[in-house]
Amino acid sequence: MKTSDVLHAWAGILAGHRPSLSIEITKECPLRCPGCYAFDAAHLGGETELRQLSDFKGAELVKNILAIVDREKPLHVSLVGGDPLVRYRELEMLLPELDARGVHTQVVTSAFRVIPAEWSRFTRLNVVVSIDGLQPEHDERRKPATYERILKNIAATKVTIHSTITGNIASREGYLEEFLRFWSARPQIAKIWFSLFTPQVGATGPEILTSEQRSFVVQDLLRLRTLYPVLDMQEGLIQEILSPPKSPEDCIFAKTTHTISADLKTKITPCQFGGEPDCSQCGCIASMGLAAVGHHRVAGPLTAGHLFHVSDRIGIAWRAAKRTFISTPAEPKSPEFKILPS
Ligand code: SF4
Ligand code: SF4
Repeated sequence: MKTSDVLHAWAGILAGHRPSLSIEITKECPLRCPGCYAFDAAHLGGETELRQLSDFKGAELVKNILAIVDREKPLHVSLVGGDPLVRYRELEMLLPELDARGVHTQVVTSAFRVIPAEWSRFTRLNVVVSIDGLQPEHDERRKPATYERILKNIAATKVTIHSTITGNIASREGYLEEFLRFWSARPQIAKIWFSLFTPQVGATGPEILTSEQRSFVVQDLLRLRTLYPVLDMQEGLIQEILSPPKSPEDCIFAKTTHTISADLKTKITPCQFGGEPDCSQCGCIASMGLAAVGHHRVAGPLTAGHLFHVSDRIGIAWRAAKRTFISTPAEPKSPEFKILPS
């Protein structure tokens, strides 16, 4: 991201906008991954579930998403699901429009379907393929998007691999290195990211890492980042895993991202996980990345995080003042979509 993008984002925050937008563009997914937060009963707050929402298809989906983007003017859009490749025809229409608007776009998929080689022409597009560990564990969890199928479906393109480390694999000696060795050898892989599984408050189960496992993973990642340059995780980001934000109010990622579900009006809070995520056990790479930026010292004890939180408060107050005192023709009401106030 360029300096002009950062200044643009800051100006947007001061004006009450969020620089990042994440949209569940479909409620459909051919996979049934254990631990999937999108289909968890708590994801949308407990009153309804993703599969019960009415979602959109075809030109209507494209038009409605572009209306949101044109109103919110985000710098970055994540298209998630369900699996967004369920709507690949709509993506074919949407991606050129987002590129023409200068929006950085991320499509997060299981790669159960071919990723078109022609998408490489979009320089601001990052296709992220979710892979849960080495082949035996992954194929068990994510069939029909097996290793064999992924390798075939990414053959003609470049992707980022994102793997969520669960408690089942966290303390297996050499596991992450074997994963990196396998994927870094493939020319289709531009970057590799790891997150740690983030549970809901009070949840139990084998997916959840113990504190010893978290420490082990952090030490391993610090070692591996020097051996595998494709592992795109800075040292500061990895260290943040040991002290995640205390609450959604402290999480710069949650506060800079609007997350919207498949009916294009239900807001997912406090972050993409929905429900009541346990921030003390968060391992989301995006949250850790922005926490590391937030801890960067700008001048003396003043950090970028201090500046962000002050700017965010100004933005919220500014937006509230606009709603109270000023009619806002720049924010037209849409019958299909309404973001709830921050
Ligand atoms: S591919 Fe993603 S959305 Fe689909 S079940 Fe798996 S984790 Fe959930
Ligand atoms: S991304 Fe992590 S730290 Fe941020 S609100 Fe969600 S669970 Fe909490």
